[in-house]
Amino acid sequence: MSRGTSSWIIATGQAWKLYVTVAGLTGSLGLLTAAFFSLTSGGRLFMAFAACGLFLGAATFVWFTAALRCPHCSAKLVWTMVASRPHSSWVIDLAALEHCPVCKARLDRARTAPH
Ligand SMILES: [Zn+2]
Repeated sequence: MSRGTSSWIIATGQAWKLYVTVAGLTGSLGLLTAAFFSLTSGGRLFMAFAACGLFLGAATFVWFTAALRCPHCSAKLVWTMVASRPHSSWVIDLAALEHCPVCKARLDRARTAPH
């Protein structure tokens, strides 16, 4: 077994939020790709596709930042990491967190664990 390799995001049952986010961003990229190709056929739908793609991408990211929380203090950990880490590494640091940066509780324990 490979204990220790799974992220707190999986341990606290929030992995589905990652899948929803990936699906949303993939849909956003698909719409932006459709917008690009619509340029080759007159471009009448370019603005519609581009606007939908940008909106979906922005909405997905905003939801992701609000949905991924510490199981103990409900801190918005994405915001916390974005604000405190370099842009290049906050995603990696976020996934590798062992303790909540706000309340210092271990993140791989569910809130219902006995004290
Ligand atoms: Zn916390």
